[in-house]
Amino acid sequence: MTGNATGGVLLLVEDDDSIGRLVKQYLEQKDGWRVVWLRSGEEAIAELRRHPVRLVVLDIGLPGIDGFEVCRRMRAHSKVPIVMLTARDEEPDRVAGLELGADDYVAKPFSPRELAARIKAILRRVEHRSEDEVLSARAVVLRRDSREVTVDGKPVELTGKEFDLLACFLEHPGIVLSRERLLDLVWGMTYPGGTRTVDVHVAQLRRKLGDPDGIRTVRGAGYKLVPS
Ligand code: CA
Repeated sequence: MTGNATGGVLLLVEDDDSIGRLVKQYLEQKDGWRVVWLRSGEEAIAELRRHPVRLVVLDIGLPGIDGFEVCRRMRAHSKVPIVMLTARDEEPDRVAGLELGADDYVAKPFSPRELAARIKAILRRVEHRSEDEVLSARAVVLRRDSREVTVDGKPVELTGKEFDLLACFLEHPGIVLSRERLLDLVWGMTYPGGTRTVDVHVAQLRRKLGDPDGIRTVRGAGYKLVPS
């Protein structure tokens, strides 16, 4: 129940139309990503500042600043996983990308399937979500196996989605989770309702846990669990 293997917003930075279209289509249809495809590094950096992104696929050869420079600037303020697309087997390109903080690279030409597999491997490595059976923070203890939640040792009745949402917050203590990300992680990409659903469930959790400050609203960004 620890969220989706893939899903959420993937930022694709590629000026080549045919590659961009192919990758976007594959990742959206096969892997449930929402792909934001931009053709320049400048636009991508601005997008990353504006919206939460789970992973970046970044071409090196771009109009304007190149992929290396984009990677360097993104790393100045973000830990988002970055996969670089390098010209075929150019060793210096790969090394330079990794030194700038990219998490991995895929050499052109590549199949979308190969890229998708690499993305999954990176997410597993980078996000290494907690698989702990018992999660806790503040006065709350959550047990996955029995699906029980207690506050100060007293049991609290939660609905299925409230339980999943709380588990999601406990898995990401202190990390801001956007409403879109929470929708993806708890309800899945196919959920037809809007982000308002998240707000309603957060309000319910605050009430039932008797702790209005535990899950904090971060204006314009989402919610975060304040661990203590
Ligand atoms: Ca290019």
